[in-house]
Amino acid sequence: MPPGHASEAEFESRLSVEQARTRVLALCAERRLASESVALDHALGRVLAVDLVATHDQPPFANSAMDGFALRGAELPREGERRFRVAAQMFAGAPVDIGFGPGECVRITTGAPLPRDADTVVIKENVRLDGDAIVVGAGERVGANVRPAGEDIRAGEQALCAGDALTPARLGVLAACGHAHAQVARRPRVALFVTGDELVPPDQALGYGQIHDSNRYSLGGMLRGLGIEPEPVAHLRDDKEALRVALLEAARRCDLVISSGGVSAGEADYLPGLVAEVGRVHFWKVRMKPGMPILCGEIEGALVFALPGNPVSTLATFQLFVRPALLALQGSNEAGLPPRKARLAMPHMKRHERAEYLRARLEWRDDGACWATPLEKQGSGMLRGMADADALVALPEGACALEAGAVVDIVPLPGLC
Ligand code: AMP
Ligand code: MG
Repeated sequence: MPPGHASEAEFESRLSVEQARTRVLALCAERRLASESVALDHALGRVLAVDLVATHDQPPFANSAMDGFALRGAELPREGERRFRVAAQMFAGAPVDIGFGPGECVRITTGAPLPRDADTVVIKENVRLDGDAIVVGAGERVGANVRPAGEDIRAGEQALCAGDALTPARLGVLAACGHAHAQVARRPRVALFVTGDELVPPDQALGYGQIHDSNRYSLGGMLRGLGIEPEPVAHLRDDKEALRVALLEAARRCDLVISSGGVSAGEADYLPGLVAEVGRVHFWKVRMKPGMPILCGEIEGALVFALPGNPVSTLATFQLFVRPALLALQGSNEAGLPPRKARLAMPHMKRHERAEYLRARLEWRDDGACWATPLEKQGSGMLRGMADADALVALPEGACALEAGAVVDIVPLPGLC
């Protein structure tokens, strides 16, 4: 064996996808990133580091849910009609409470505080104006159209949990609870490099045996989709010393190092041996297709994912292992969620033993179920199949014949809303 090459036997025997993921999550649990305070305008997608307990009611005061007239519900007519003199008006933002007498009402807008003597709002569409009064008919409900204080969130209630990813609505909850900043996990620092003597940039003419480097952009896109801007991407040749220097330098600066290519058992695949030399290999090769050669290790405390260079393998292994790792490093609750399910739209015969991840289109049909149609282009080098896919369909280990309608696990891909 050439020097620097690692035989598989030196490392653990291959793991299943589930074993490998469990391993990755355990490694990330030991490396949870510190938290920082971030202004809400910049906190979208970040992972909350602490529980949010409301310090005041939301809404903070009883208010009107509609534009109309606030009055005493006990005075509503049981039958016929009743006149109420409009004693005052109360708009949203009104600075003081307003009192009003028996037989009177207050014109009120949505969000305005309910006057202390009122318990009911009759919507303006349901009244007839008559000079300085309104006429209300029977059939109005006592207590209608009022939003009590705290009906959304009570003071002392836990409104958000540590590990929640900040969606637009959760940013809204933070703001409604009086927070202009969120305490969130620091973003992981990520180095990304692509390896291969055959790679040239997309704007360079192809020489003999050369291909355009696509992984740089698809992996960069995966990271940016998670809100992570990687360090400037380096292209490294299949040169052991250059790779050694790049790996070590990146590991010293970053929390996570991702490489593409050079991780199989070919003559110029130096990464497994190198990671073993300068760090530690946690696992190499997983019982899956595509993406079998993936390696997970560590160098100087940084996690290292060496992904296979085949563009589909690169993206599938990113989605299955690197994405959960990036989420888990930030303490996200999402990494541990159970898999999503869909029904297979056509029969599928699986003849090999490894778990398989088919590129598939999803469709929600009238039966309410999500149906997955595997795409034609399933080769691990066929980016087009990946580009057309909404999700990976996860077929479990072992040969099996799956019928149309079979329920399968799916792994959503970016772009699926
Ligand atoms: P490797 O994992 O280095 O053995 O590469 C496997 C296959 O993926 C080969 O056909 C490579 O040419 C191709 N490949 C490797 N890196 C890239 C890349 N950055 N962009 C596109 N294809 C790549
Ligand atoms: Mg290569």
